[in-house]
Amino acid sequence: MPRPRLSRSRLMAVGAVVVASTAVIAVSTTAGAFGPKQHAQHAIKDGKAKNVILLIGDGMGDSEITLARDYTVGAAGRLNMDKFPLTGAYTTYAVHADGTPDYVTDSAASGTGWATGVKTVNGRISKTPGTDKAVPTILELAQKGGYATGSVSTAELTDATPAVLASHTTDRSCQGPADMAKCPTDTIAKGGPGSIAEQSVNHKVDVLLGGGKQRFDQKVTDGRYKGLTVTEQAKKLGYQVVTDDRSLKAAKGDKPVLGLFAPGNVPTEWTGKPAALGGTDPQRCVTSNPARPSGTPNLADQTTKAIQLLEAKQKRQHGNKKGFFLQVEGASIDKQDHSADPCGQIGETAAFDRAVKVARAYAAKHPDTLVVTTADHGHTSQIVPLEAQPPGLTSTLITNEGQKLKVNYSTNTPGQSQEHTGVQVRIAAEGPQAYRVLGVTDQTDLFTTVREALRLR
Ligand code: MG
Ligand code: ZN
Repeated sequence: MPRPRLSRSRLMAVGAVVVASTAVIAVSTTAGAFGPKQHAQHAIKDGKAKNVILLIGDGMGDSEITLARDYTVGAAGRLNMDKFPLTGAYTTYAVHADGTPDYVTDSAASGTGWATGVKTVNGRISKTPGTDKAVPTILELAQKGGYATGSVSTAELTDATPAVLASHTTDRSCQGPADMAKCPTDTIAKGGPGSIAEQSVNHKVDVLLGGGKQRFDQKVTDGRYKGLTVTEQAKKLGYQVVTDDRSLKAAKGDKPVLGLFAPGNVPTEWTGKPAALGGTDPQRCVTSNPARPSGTPNLADQTTKAIQLLEAKQKRQHGNKKGFFLQVEGASIDKQDHSADPCGQIGETAAFDRAVKVARAYAAKHPDTLVVTTADHGHTSQIVPLEAQPPGLTSTLITNEGQKLKVNYSTNTPGQSQEHTGVQVRIAAEGPQAYRVLGVTDQTDLFTTVREALRLR
C-alpha cells in the first residue's frame, strides 16, 4: 500500500488527534466496534473509500455556521457539522484569465476548484481560465471508475454548484438551451456540448435532485433532440422524472432519477423579516414558508433517498462491490445571505445540517465512507454587539435560548445584493483520507482528497 505523503507538521497534527481521541475513549461509554478511536484511526490511514459524500454549504463561512448554531442549539450547543473528528480550513480564491489571484470567488470558480482541482475565473464552469478548455471533473472520473454518482441541491440543478460536476461552459448563466448568450462556442449548433441542463442529463448522472424545472422545460434548439424539451430528452436517455415527495419516494434504482421540485430554486424552509437599515424589531424566525408547496422534499430526505438509489444501482450492477460519489448542496444559505434575510439563511443552514446528520449516520454504519462538509466561499452576515449601529442592514433575532442576537449585512449598498467575501472557510471530514483536510489547505486540494479516497485516475 502506498504511504501517505505527510509533511512533518501534518504528521504531528495527526498524532495529536490520535492522542486526543485516545483520551476521549478512556472516559467514553460509546459501545460498539467502531468507536471514536477507530474512527480517528480510520481517518488518518491511507485507506480507500468505497463511497464519498461531499456536502457543500454554499456561502457557509464561519459566521454563517455560528449564526445558525447560536439561533438553533445555542452558543454552547453543537451542530451536526461541528461534530466531525477532523477539521481544517481552506482558501477559496479564484484567478483572473492570466492566472493572478482574484481574492473573492463565486460559486462557479470555487466549484471548478473543488470539482476539477484547477482554479478558474469567476463565472466559469469546469473550464480553464485563459484558454476556456474543459477540465475533467471528479464526478466524470468517478463514473469512469465504475462508481454510481449523484448530485442534490436546493438551487436549480443548473446553478453553479451542481453544474461544475457534470458540465463545462464558458459562463454559469448558460443553464438551459434558451440561455446560451454568454457561451457562443458551447452551443450544439457550433459543435459544443450544449447548455448545463442538456449536459447534465447527457452525462447520465444516476441521481439528480433539485430545483430548476423551468430550465429543463426549455426546448432543445439543435442536434439530435431538437424540438424536445430537456425533460423529454432526459426521458429518452432513460431517466424517470419525479416532481414531489411522493413520486421521489416511489422511485426505484432501476433507472436514473431526475427530480425537479420547483420551477426555480427550491423555496426556503423558514421565513422572517429581512435585515433593514436601522435594524428590525427583535424577531423570532417563522419555521415554515407559505411559498413552499407541501410535498416539496427537504434536503435531508433527498439525501437519504439519493443514498438508497445509488446503493440499489450498485447492488444490481456490481453486486455491491462498487460504491458511489454523492454531492449534496445547501444552496440558499448563500442566496438568503445575498438577500440579507437572516431567518431564511438560518433555516437553510439548519436544513443543510440535517443532511449532514444523514450522511454521518450512513458513515457510522459504513465506515468505508468518506464524508466531507465544507463551503465554497464565505459571505456577508456578521454577528455584532447589540449596541453597535453599523452602517448597513441589521436585524435583531430572539434565539431559541431566549437571547437577543444582532446580525449585520454590510458588504454592499443596502438594496443591492450583499456580496461574498474572500475569507477562508471550514472543511471537516471523517472516513478514509479525512486527514487531508487538516491544517490550512486550498479548495483545489479537495479534488485530490476525493480522487485519492476513491483511487480515481
Ligand atoms: Mg451553489
Ligand atoms: Zn452567492
